[in-house]
Amino acid sequence: MALDDHIERILWTEEQISDRVSELASQISNDFKEFSSSLIIVGVATGAFLFLADIVRKIKLPVSVDFIRAESYGSGTESSGAPRITCDVKIDVKGKNAILIEDIVDTGNTLSCLIAHLESKGACSVSVCTFLDKPARRKVHYELVGEGKFYRGFECPDYFVVGYGMDFDELYRNLPYVGVLKPELYK
Ligand code: 5GP
Ligand code: MG
Ligand code: MG
Repeated sequence: MALDDHIERILWTEEQISDRVSELASQISNDFKEFSSSLIIVGVATGAFLFLADIVRKIKLPVSVDFIRAESYGSGTESSGAPRITCDVKIDVKGKNAILIEDIVDTGNTLSCLIAHLESKGACSVSVCTFLDKPARRKVHYELVGEGKFYRGFECPDYFVVGYGMDFDELYRNLPYVGVLKPELYK
């Protein structure tokens, strides 16, 4: 079966994504123009890799780029709370302004853990830029650090989505759009 045939419904097309990423990049470029020299973009691996690659090329400021990895012991379509950091940033974030780049914020467990982690390493501000946000499923409250700001691409309805970096069982990350799988494939 060809890749597109696994998808029941497309939620955001490649073109809609590209337009929205451009808007987010202009907002970030504008909001951080005063303190650009110390801006670090921290992508949350693996899901944020495409979003990060697209947005950094549209941010009109000098930035450093690094990745961090957090894993929670969930399986299938549910995360299990209390994630742990399995691969840390290499760049020293002390005294720097960090922007966490996420694919999707669901319960908020991963994000609250990562924000606290960057704060403990001495970042003077921690912002969040998530491609998707599912506020209906939030369980954990998180607070940004310092002058940190929150950006989101789209509010996501309560479906398990794939594509544009997001996986189901490590597949579908390479879809250039975001969609919902055919129900029989989630089993
Ligand atoms: P949280 O810790 O906020 O519950 O979950 C965050 C992580 O769970 C996301 O970064 C993502 O990796 C995964 N996740 C949450 N919702 C979805 C979804 O709808 N689709 C996919 N593919 N991953 C999701
Ligand atoms: Mg993620
Ligand atoms: Mg995943």
